[in-house]
Amino acid sequence: MGKVTGFLEIDRQVHKYQPASDRIRHFREFTLPMSDQEVEKQAARCMDCGIPFCHGPTGCPVHNQIPDWNDLVYNGDWDGAIRNLHSTNNFPEWTGRICPAPCEEACTLNLEDIPVAIKTVEQAIADKAYEQGHIRPMPAASQTGKKIAIIGSGPAGMAAAQQLGRVGHEVHVFERESKPGGLMRYGIPDFKIEKHYVDARVKQMEGEGVTFHCGVNVGVDKKVSELLAEHDAVLYCGGSETPRPAGIPGAEFIGVHDAMPYLVQQNRRVGARTSSRSHGPPSRSSPVASMWSSSAVVIRPPTVSAPPSARARYV
Ligand code: SF4
Repeated sequence: MGKVTGFLEIDRQVHKYQPASDRIRHFREFTLPMSDQEVEKQAARCMDCGIPFCHGPTGCPVHNQIPDWNDLVYNGDWDGAIRNLHSTNNFPEWTGRICPAPCEEACTLNLEDIPVAIKTVEQAIADKAYEQGHIRPMPAASQTGKKIAIIGSGPAGMAAAQQLGRVGHEVHVFERESKPGGLMRYGIPDFKIEKHYVDARVKQMEGEGVTFHCGVNVGVDKKVSELLAEHDAVLYCGGSETPRPAGIPGAEFIGVHDAMPYLVQQNRRVGARTSSRSHGPPSRSSPVASMWSSSAVVIRPPTVSAPPSARARYV
């Protein structure tokens, strides 16, 4: 386990944020990285519970071996930690950023509202692996001769493609949009995860032999029957852009919109901008800076010209 008395001695600490005055000037992530020493102290708080509620059915859905990599980080074995993390999770730098962390909800220390900072430690392990060049292609030693098509390049499609490619299958991923990533690229704003993390995994997987076919809308541009005829297996990993109804009073008011169309639109704009100027915030007067996105619903007042009867109350 981490430090035997760590949870008694060390306060919980997670990433801090940039000041709001800085955050409003750009669309990038705004968490401030913690030092290795700070992260190791947080890992030291893990009690290595006899029944670790943090993983398994009560916690981490991908069964990350949380107490194990907390112990490795506490002991400074960051290489061992990323190897352990990759054994259950293809993309820990994604989950370390955007997962809602049911593991922390389930952590025994959450009985006192001070769970181990599991998500922060996970992100730090993955980010350090990037820094140290551990995110590199791991091609299969031999090929099976089997050809597999995957429809959709969201997290499920990419994870399946990586696993199937690494056991030696010839994998082809078909994506409707112009770039791979699905929800990761088009449904989540850059302030939660910058898209170079998606690009890096695409590059890694191309190095492992996975082929991405973008701009191919299966069922429209290519028939499913063709895919079935050309491949030994077809895996469907499509997502959905259909918003889930909020189901709250007022959701039907004028000026209340689902966020999904805005997220897709905004991610396309920011993506186009960041690919033409790799880093640096957009100027505040740019069209990009005038657009906002939300992970829930976008609420806008009705236009002034709308008749009063059409102007519902809004919050
Ligand atoms: S439940 Fe919390 S304290 Fe227990 S092993 Fe998991 S992370 Fe560590």
